[in-house]
Amino acid sequence: MNTFHSTRGIADQLTSKQAIRKGIASDGGLFVSDSLGDVQIDLDTITDKSYQDIARIVLGALLPDFTQTELAECVGGAYGPKWTDSGITPLKPLADDYVLELFHGPTSAFKDVALQMLPRLMSKTNAAPNENDAQDAKARPEDVPADTQERIMILTATSGDTGKAALAGFADAPNTAITVFYPQGQVSPIQQLQMTTQLGGNVAVCAVKGNFDDAQSAVKDIFADRELARSLHADSRTVLSSANSINIGRLFPQVVYYFVAYARLLTDQVINVGDEVEFCVPTGNFGDVLAGYYAKRMGLPVSKLIVASDTNNVLCDFLTTGVYDRNRPFYTTNSPSMDILISSNLERMLYYMSDGDTELISSLMKDLKETGRFEVPAGLRSAIDEIFSCGWASESQVKSAIHDCWEQHHYLIDPHTACGYHVMNGVEADPLTPRILLSTASPYKFPRAVGESLQLSLPDNDFQCMDAVADATGTTPPSQLRFLETAPVRFKDVIPIEGMKDFVRKAAKKADL
Ligand SMILES: *Cc1c(COP(=O)(O)O)cnc(C)c1O
Repeated sequence: MNTFHSTRGIADQLTSKQAIRKGIASDGGLFVSDSLGDVQIDLDTITDKSYQDIARIVLGALLPDFTQTELAECVGGAYGPKWTDSGITPLKPLADDYVLELFHGPTSAFKDVALQMLPRLMSKTNAAPNENDAQDAKARPEDVPADTQERIMILTATSGDTGKAALAGFADAPNTAITVFYPQGQVSPIQQLQMTTQLGGNVAVCAVKGNFDDAQSAVKDIFADRELARSLHADSRTVLSSANSINIGRLFPQVVYYFVAYARLLTDQVINVGDEVEFCVPTGNFGDVLAGYYAKRMGLPVSKLIVASDTNNVLCDFLTTGVYDRNRPFYTTNSPSMDILISSNLERMLYYMSDGDTELISSLMKDLKETGRFEVPAGLRSAIDEIFSCGWASESQVKSAIHDCWEQHHYLIDPHTACGYHVMNGVEADPLTPRILLSTASPYKFPRAVGESLQLSLPDNDFQCMDAVADATGTTPPSQLRFLETAPVRFKDVIPIEGMKDFVRKAAKKADL
């Protein structure tokens, strides 16, 4: 049986559709399936396949209660002409290594890969009553079609890129609404404009006074608030769900590009089926690199997953010492999407690496909540060590990385990718194992940091920075970023963390069915 349950207990068993709808488990844990890896992807079948074909194969294994037709519809809709590269995530050589470019989607960041899929997957979860479990079916009057019954309101805290990518994915999607909170002053001006100019009748965007972790914790509390859930359902038939990378509908589409990268190396005859590769992944909430771990469990020959952090190096310390300790200063860096002290998806890795020890995970997460700290047993730590390695880049190392990568390879990288570039180059390479750096954002999302790194003299305005970077490098800003300069700002609210719940209530009322 391919069911999903919480990382913290196995009492509730859900189908993947139910888990996608629900987002996070009732006990605060994350949904996991014990059959992960039961289906191994046949690597011979993916060579020469398109991104879309590989997506159908990999997602078919991860989401068994979706029909092939449903998946084909979702994949076709998500990975179409909105992407500026027909290969969706092209693999490019970079000296002796490779870069997997994940930023060719509509918002120029890797989160598009997942967030163009999530709304489509979600729209298939509102199945006809007889396909739902008995309890669900009973709650619906028989004469009303299930898919006009409820609206899902996506609630997201973002450190920058998720917000826009989620807004772009869900804007005007039927039977959905979306509310996005971002930490005031802690996302780049371009990221902020990307969100505050978002079109769509079902969207709301709001700045909060606090950092990303504060906002994410508040969102988790809102999800756990049963009274709020009841009143939202009574008032506007709205159920809350998550687009953060804790949702399996967000996580699973990311597994695909690890296989795609491997397939491209097979096609180019850099490797043969079965040869090992390494991935270096700029990491924040641990979603992207976790997807690589899922790929490994599904048969992808990955020797190491290199976790790259920025100055907020809590994950790197954890992987080095076995102690996770969020009691430390929070730094605002040029890589805001990695400025995270609580990496939610780590919980899933710990679940699988501990062979599904829900008791252990519950107690670690209790420690984290109560003391901000936990320590894993030595056996678990050494198991993790076998697969994951890590490093981190300081702000000045990020700038040098952008500078050096341009000078040496004429390849322009953004500050997040630069963390990975720095870390990868600090690790000794095995000449027989190809290394793939995941590039997570277009350099033009962060034109000031990139321009400074290239030692350009920069104007005050970020759009003029884009032009300066373009002039200096002969590269071109994505049009969806350049045009933001003249797009009207729709959302100007700034609220305290304590005001978030009320904001959600109001947003649910406003975005009427
Ligand atoms: C979200 C993000 C990351 C971090 O990904 P996680 O899945 O949170 O680890 C890295 N780079 C960019 C540009 C991002 O948007």
